[in-house]
Formats: sequence, C-alpha cells, structure tokens
Amino acid sequence: MNVKLKFEGFEPTEEQLNLLESYISFLKQKHPFKDDVEIHFVMERVGNMTTGQKSKDGVIFILVKDRLNRDVLKTLSHEWVHIYQTSVLKRKNTGDVGGKNEDEANAKSGEDIKRFEYNNPKEEDIIYKPFQTKIEEITNRLNSESPKKLDIISEIKNISIDKLPYEYDSLDKFIDKETMNVHYNKHYKGYVKKLNQELDKIKGKDLDLEQLIKTISKFNQKVKNNGGGAFNHALFWKMLSPKPNKIGEDTITLIKKHFGSFEDFKTEFEEMAKNNFGSGWVWLILTKNNKLKIVTTANQNNPLMNDEPIQGYPILGLDLWEHAYYLRYKNKRDEYISNFWKVVNWGFVEDQLTTRINMNKTK
Ligand code: MN
Repeated sequence: MNVKLKFEGFEPTEEQLNLLESYISFLKQKHPFKDDVEIHFVMERVGNMTTGQKSKDGVIFILVKDRLNRDVLKTLSHEWVHIYQTSVLKRKNTGDVGGKNEDEANAKSGEDIKRFEYNNPKEEDIIYKPFQTKIEEITNRLNSESPKKLDIISEIKNISIDKLPYEYDSLDKFIDKETMNVHYNKHYKGYVKKLNQELDKIKGKDLDLEQLIKTISKFNQKVKNNGGGAFNHALFWKMLSPKPNKIGEDTITLIKKHFGSFEDFKTEFEEMAKNNFGSGWVWLILTKNNKLKIVTTANQNNPLMNDEPIQGYPILGLDLWEHAYYLRYKNKRDEYISNFWKVVNWGFVEDQLTTRINMNKTK
C-alpha cells in the first residue's frame, strides 16, 4: 500500500511530521490493508465532516485546525479502522452511531493512541510544544488564586457539534435531502453556535450539555432556547436511521406494559404530536420510576429540563417545528408524523432505555 500525506492550510513542523509518520507506520502494522490511502490534514471542515471523514475512494480527511493533538491522532485511527473494516473485513460501509463499525472504530482508536503513547513517551512533548507558552500562562493563572479561574474553564470547553450519522438524503422515506441539510447545518449548528456565544458571556462552559439541561432554571432564556435546540437535535439525529431495524425486546415489553399494545402507543404518540399547537416536540420519556409516558414540550424545551411540568429522560422524540418538515410536507404535518415510524432507530431507543433504567436503579 501507498500512503500519501497532504496538508491544507496546516504546516507541520519537522518533529510533528516525524510523529505523524511513525504513527502511520504503527497503524499500518496494527490494521494492515492493501489499498492506497491519501490523508489530508485540513484547517477547515470539508463538507459535513466534524473531526474526520473517509471518502469512498480511500481519502481520509482530518480536521487539525491549528493543533496536532491526541484527538487528531485518534480521529486518524478511527477513519483508518473504517477502511480496514470495509477492505479487509469486507463489512458494509456504515458508520452509524451505536452500530458495530462505529463502536469498534471508537474502541480501536482509543486503544491505538494509548499503545502508541506507551511506546513513544516523547509524543506528548511534540504535540504540546507549540502550546507550551499558552499552557504555562494558563497554569500561572490557575495558580494565582484569582477569580479568573472560571474564565480559563470557559476558554477550554465548548459545546461541540455532533456528527450527522448518515447522509442528508438517506432518510428520504421520511424527509428530503434539502430539509436535512438546512435543518442540520443552519438550524442545529446555529443553536450550538449561539449557545456557545451566550455561555462565553456568562462563564458557564464547565458544564456538559446534559448537565446544563438538567439545571436549566439557573440560566437565562437564550441559554434555554439554544441549549435546548442543541440538545434536542443532537438526540434527534441519533433517533433516526436509514436502516430498517426491529424494535428491541425491552422497549416493546415496556411499551405493551404502559400502553397496551404497540398500535395504541403509536396512536397516542401521533395524537399528542398532532394536537401540539405551534413549535415544539413530542417525546416518549422514561420517568424516574421507570414508567413510560408521552409528553409534548413547547419551543426547544426538553423533558429533562428541571422546570418542565412532567420530567423524564427522552427515549424517542419528534421535531414538530415547521423547519423540520415544511419544504416537503407544507401543511400536511400529519403525513410527516406518520412517516416518522419508517426511520426510527429502535436500536438507539433500546440502548437509551436500558441505560436509563439502570441509572435509575443505581440512584
Ligand atoms: Mn429542528
């Protein structure tokens, strides 16, 4: 195999280049395949990539921005493992969240970076050398006992944008390519961006998004709207899947217990959705007592928000904002609602349900 490296807008130092080369030799040994591969290290996102992306013709794109850190190396492993899966293991090219390929790539890339670091103790120096001054400055500020500590935390953490786990046109049974594109790139990314802008002002970024949602009453309306938008959509993308998939054992058992039958559940969910006036969401939630309920929330509110009248963990949800369906369905919102069932990711629903039931038990 041949490996070609390309740098677009990012110029590695000689040390960084050597590091990359030894990391790639390590990958070649660990996950060998025959195909040639071209790796582009880019400063700006390409297409709808978040941190990395593999194209069908063996080109890997890795977002470096202006740093070459562990995440960058890990992303490289991740995409590399995807090539190994298709070319050596002859698996289908799917990177669905919660799917075998994706889970395996996550696990392997974590192992890779650990193993590589173990064998290359100098890696850390090389990676962090360019940031040495910045790190020293931050360390000094942290040690200075000044109330500036919170500033530093907000500099470090940012709520990130989740990758869309399929193509824009993959859910065509439910929604068209253009709506998905605008919904993901304009609406969802807009919520995340505005949330981060707002958190910058109020120094609240040491929270993760779920924690922020659970304590939403401490924040202002802008954080609530945009935090809800960021959280709801990140969940929503994962609740959908282009692949036909079966409802899980635990899900169907609980649904039958609380709604009588799957048909009764569907009817109630659709009725709640249809009767929701204005912009909002309909949710299947798991309450603290492990009961299933269907609720609607207004605006970008979420049933995990501590100021919602009925609270619980969202297991399945449907976006009822016009921006989610209007291009295709216009005033026929009922059709959008009934087509939703064609793309539900029941595997994700089952995972959420069992995880949350266990979390409720251990509390
Ligand atoms: Mn939306």
